Amino acid sequence: MDAHSSLEQDENFRQEVHNWLLANCPPSQRWPITAAEQVWGGRNRTFPSEDARLWFERMQGKGWTVPDWPREYGGAGLSERQTRILEQELKRLRCRKPLYDLGIWMLGPALLEFGSETQKREHLPRIAAGEVRWCQGYSEPGAGSDLASLQMRADDCGDHFLVNGSKIWTTKADLADWIFCLVRTRQGGIKQQGISFLLIDMDNPGVSVSPISLISGESEFCQTFFDNVKVPKHNLVGKLHEGWSVAKALLKHERKLMSEVEIDTPGPSFTLHEAADNYIGRNSDGKLADLSLRDALVKNDMRFKALALTHGRSYEEKQAGIANAIAMIMKYAGTEAQKQKEEVLLAILGTQALGWESRGEEGDFNSDELLTARGWLYSKILSIAGGSTEVQLNIIAKRILELPD
Ligand SMILES: Cc1cc2nc3c(=O)[nH]c(=O)nc-3n(C[C@H](O)[C@H](O)[C@H](O)COP(=O)(O)OP(=O)(O)OC[C@H]3O[C@@H](n4cnc5c(N)ncnc54)[C@H](O)[C@@H]3O)c2cc1C
Repeated sequence: MDAHSSLEQDENFRQEVHNWLLANCPPSQRWPITAAEQVWGGRNRTFPSEDARLWFERMQGKGWTVPDWPREYGGAGLSERQTRILEQELKRLRCRKPLYDLGIWMLGPALLEFGSETQKREHLPRIAAGEVRWCQGYSEPGAGSDLASLQMRADDCGDHFLVNGSKIWTTKADLADWIFCLVRTRQGGIKQQGISFLLIDMDNPGVSVSPISLISGESEFCQTFFDNVKVPKHNLVGKLHEGWSVAKALLKHERKLMSEVEIDTPGPSFTLHEAADNYIGRNSDGKLADLSLRDALVKNDMRFKALALTHGRSYEEKQAGIANAIAMIMKYAGTEAQKQKEEVLLAILGTQALGWESRGEEGDFNSDELLTARGWLYSKILSIAGGSTEVQLNIIAKRILELPD
């Protein structure tokens, strides 16, 4: 196909998607979104509203909860180019994600690459349909950044593994149905070469979850315990002792997701510029009244513009078969930019940002301020979850810049 007809096809597809979204996304399912309004998958799934259910069902009907997955696994079989167009149009119309789940963002892509046909058919359609909620069992009390030091063991018992140990910082394990875990299947030798990747049903006898209370009073994380848990052999993903490759591939998806964190996270409905207009005001020449904030706002705009352009460049180069290392820096760059943005917002709002409890009507400045302090605090996790900033910088130094140890 020549470049002209390919562009024409893209444009037709974009128009089709745009029209469908306009007709099918209920006005209430546009941005902004609060945490309580997110639809998570799961056996005990509930919808925060009828509109949320409708939006989910319509998107699922199109295969657009996982648009790039093959149709036989619940997706729409869209090409990378079409998926990008869909994402752009969703963003342009400020449509919310119809479904949130680690299965969509992390496990699914890893299963597509490493899973057996049986595993794909068993798990992927249920993820696409929001029937199962997944959580991630990587970190352990003694294995975070140094993940390969993990000790939770799975002993070979013929037709099953016997799993013993615990995982920590398991986000929302208390709400999850299944967990994907890294387990040690071989003691001794090179640490990375004795790890396997297992899927475990949280309903299995011997699995228990203990929520960890946070200073906020909420409980985002759990410690998850495994006490003589029998896991069928067919739940091993990839080869025995070779789970490290699956783990690394999955982490790439996690980090990609985190590099795009600005999109789709609960937060105030106003932009930094609107907040500045509202709280700082303008001089008679039309410029923002505070010089240092003017500077901070321009820098913030430039950072996000640069990030968007770099994402775009990475995508175009990939399409053209040109290798680059951009993906490796984007988790660091994206999460740092997000943290800096929260700092600017705090500076704009000053003492107005100190609110903590409850929230009023959608779009009301005074009520949205209440999300600011929480948003600022929440942004701190971005440089820890999915691999800390320091560790990301080590990776960039070693693998991209090839600096000595
Ligand atoms: C919001 C959130 C959600 C999470 N959800 C999950 C989850 O669902 N499942 C899961 O398995 N885990 C989860 N985690 C855990 C996360 O993966 C770990 O916190 C992260 O990998 C860091 O490990 P750690 O906490 O043990 O810190 P450590 O590894 O103990 O690090 C402590 C500090 O030392 C620094 N450091 C460590 N090693 C080096 C080094 N070599 N060079 C320089 N500095 C270094 C780190 O940067 C950090 O500042 C979550 C974490 C957060 C914050």
